[in-house]
Amino acid sequence: MFKKILIANRGEIALRVHRACQEMGIRTVAVHSTADASAMHVRLADESVCIGPPSARESYLNVAAILSAATITGAEAIHPGYGFLSENARFAEMVEAHGLAFIGPTADHIRMMGDKITAKDTMRQLGVPLVPGSDGALETLEEAREVAEKIKYPVLIKAAAGGGGRGMKVAQHEGELEEAWRVARAEAKAAFGDDAVYMEKYLDRPRHIELQILADNHGNVVHFGERDCSLQRRHQKLVEEAGSPALDAAARDAIGAQVTAGLSKIGYRNAGTLEFLWQDGQFSFIEMNTRLQVEHPVTEMVCGVDLVREQIRIAAGEKLGYGQSDVRFSGHAIECRVTAENPVTFAPSPGKVNTYHAPGGLGVRVDSALYSGYSVPPHYDSLVAKLVVHAPTRAEAIARMRRALEEMVVDGISTTLPLHHRIMADPEFQAGDYTIHWLERFVARQSEAGA
Ligand code: ADP
Repeated sequence: MFKKILIANRGEIALRVHRACQEMGIRTVAVHSTADASAMHVRLADESVCIGPPSARESYLNVAAILSAATITGAEAIHPGYGFLSENARFAEMVEAHGLAFIGPTADHIRMMGDKITAKDTMRQLGVPLVPGSDGALETLEEAREVAEKIKYPVLIKAAAGGGGRGMKVAQHEGELEEAWRVARAEAKAAFGDDAVYMEKYLDRPRHIELQILADNHGNVVHFGERDCSLQRRHQKLVEEAGSPALDAAARDAIGAQVTAGLSKIGYRNAGTLEFLWQDGQFSFIEMNTRLQVEHPVTEMVCGVDLVREQIRIAAGEKLGYGQSDVRFSGHAIECRVTAENPVTFAPSPGKVNTYHAPGGLGVRVDSALYSGYSVPPHYDSLVAKLVVHAPTRAEAIARMRRALEEMVVDGISTTLPLHHRIMADPEFQAGDYTIHWLERFVARQSEAGA
């Protein structure tokens, strides 16, 4: 097993990885920008190295500085967390070229799934169901028009290099196609330096349901069930649940068996998540994330697994040591992503947190790097805490979340805590009756009501 791991990230996920390392007797090296000198992940790590100025490009995305930090501290492996360099195939290659282990999949698999067109081709070959759409990239507007006529409007133009909901535009009818085509390509070019786009049928009432998998280097692939991440604003997840209120064990087992068999065929390793849209009792693959997900704790709560520990064990060459029939699902878990944003307008709200009080009690978990007196810097993602609850049933989990939200205090900045209160109190949410479009309408109603 590794003796020392460098964590190439910040905030709650850097802490999350640090905690797994501590419990495994592994020393940690934190890296940080000058804006994060007093951040919690730096305070708790065994060692830390400043890798650059506040801008992420010059610090958390600075490959040369991160590799130097690993070399001078004698780290043997790098955990990339999520975001930043976690899905950068070139980074994974360079880490290995420096004789270090990359705690994640192979560079080839990162590259394969990072290009959504190649990812969909691969899944098609493995027999995984897809959303109807173009076979590969669209070269011209004319071609886009032909595909749209075949699959019928509304359609969605998506960036091949996409992520974070960018480079994605809907055309409700033919009159909107040219604009959607132009904007999606321009956004893709600006965000990813690549304007390749493809088309999918725009589903009108799907749920976003994803499957967590782990694979070792010895051919074992296991899934840990699904997460329902349908509660999204601008294609960004706000609340996640395990399991999905819409899925039964038979549907979960069927897709799980198909996916694990497919991934074992291509020799995938480490953690991964397959994202699907679920509508009318059917799964349609949209993309695969080759890293730990923000929402992984809900899976950990219902399966009693430490996914980060498993990632580290796999990267060290260990066998999973258990099979699919050993994975048990117990109770229900919900996560609320608390961000430093105005809960109605979503305007960013960085700044000093005067008082921070985390909730506790049975079945409550808080993944956060906040502390009283901490200043949330304006340079990075606005996520400041993940509040996670676990209870025997979904109704009890909602009651527990409402209780935990009542206890939680983040004073000095605006956060989305009030929005989470309102979501948890909503009868439709409580009935589990929602699709990916539900939250946008909920938020619009709230702002009309002047909440
Ligand atoms: P990104 O990588 O940018 O997050 P995804 O392909 O994962 O893009 O899609 C993000 C979200 O956009 C999905 O969770 C879903 O809400 C919505 N979405 C994606 N594809 C479709 C589709 N074909 N029809 C309807 N909604 C979609």
